[in-house]
Amino acid sequence: MGDRVGLVYDPRFLEHETGFHPECPERLLWAVEKLGDLGLWDRCELVSPRLATPEEVALFHHPHYITRVEAFSRQGGGHFCLDTPGSAGTYRAALLAVGGVLRAIEASYTRQFEAVLCLVRPPGHHAGPTVGKGFCYFNNVAIGALWARRRFSVERTLILDWDVHHGDGTQDAFYADPGVVYFSWHQYPFYPYTGTWEEWGAGQGFGHTVNVPLPHGGTDQEYLLAYERLLVPLARAYRPQLILVSAGYDAHFADQLGDMDVTASGFWSLAARTRDLARELGAPLVLSLEGGYSQQGMAWGVAATVAALTGVSLEEREPFGPENTGVRPQVEVQIEASREKLSTIWGSSFA
Ligand SMILES: [Zn+2]
Repeated sequence: MGDRVGLVYDPRFLEHETGFHPECPERLLWAVEKLGDLGLWDRCELVSPRLATPEEVALFHHPHYITRVEAFSRQGGGHFCLDTPGSAGTYRAALLAVGGVLRAIEASYTRQFEAVLCLVRPPGHHAGPTVGKGFCYFNNVAIGALWARRRFSVERTLILDWDVHHGDGTQDAFYADPGVVYFSWHQYPFYPYTGTWEEWGAGQGFGHTVNVPLPHGGTDQEYLLAYERLLVPLARAYRPQLILVSAGYDAHFADQLGDMDVTASGFWSLAARTRDLARELGAPLVLSLEGGYSQQGMAWGVAATVAALTGVSLEEREPFGPENTGVRPQVEVQIEASREKLSTIWGSSFA
């Protein structure tokens, strides 16, 4: 269906209330407002999420954990764990976030859209089978990959994660699973302190986990260098049938939690490159919001992503720029060392 782009959004995502906390409902409104201002909202088609069933969530999470989240909301919320608050609306928003991703996968897999961006919350990539943390309850993307495997017999899913934090919940879910390649750029050392250059997966999944842990101050050019040198040849070797993106915008230079220097232009390039890769490989593409805590980063990052997916340039310029640009020598050395490692593991298919 050409280059139609779907956008999953629902005001019920705002009903996951967090009090005075960076993962606040306004995050979605900042993005939605900017999409409207730039005429990008009208370039997309709105996709309504559905509630995921507890059985679908249980593809990844233990049933007693799902019950615990439900009970937490039924009792009015509070602090689910130290860093992760919630409210009476949290459980329903979390089911909608999962269901939004599932609906997006279905819509892109059946070629109703070339790509779908899910503006959902709460985010998911830190959540494990029995644990919510890092502002996450249900792991939207991990459940999506497992659901696609069951629903559409997808054998190879590529998960990209450009959130500033390492997606430890997602990495752990598929660490020994050759049915998923997990590729993450993130700030390191930084929460959750996993995702080193040495974590490659295990067993049958060895070589299916790739981390690009960048020291603070990571730039557009560093993200894109890792994309071209590591991800593109890996994706061509792996031939994914589905591409999922944990799209966080907390690597934006204005973010108050992250300390990276990615710009709207950088997010535009990441999204455009991913759209091109999905086209080349014939893979459906679904992006799901993770973090992003500054108004500027959310507004401009999401707008840049939608612009890239819909094939337009971002004509308006961001009001401020980051301190750093270019590629630091030590980062280039690390990326080339990882490239060597990947070509050893994947052989001649990695080129
Ligand atoms: Zn994050």
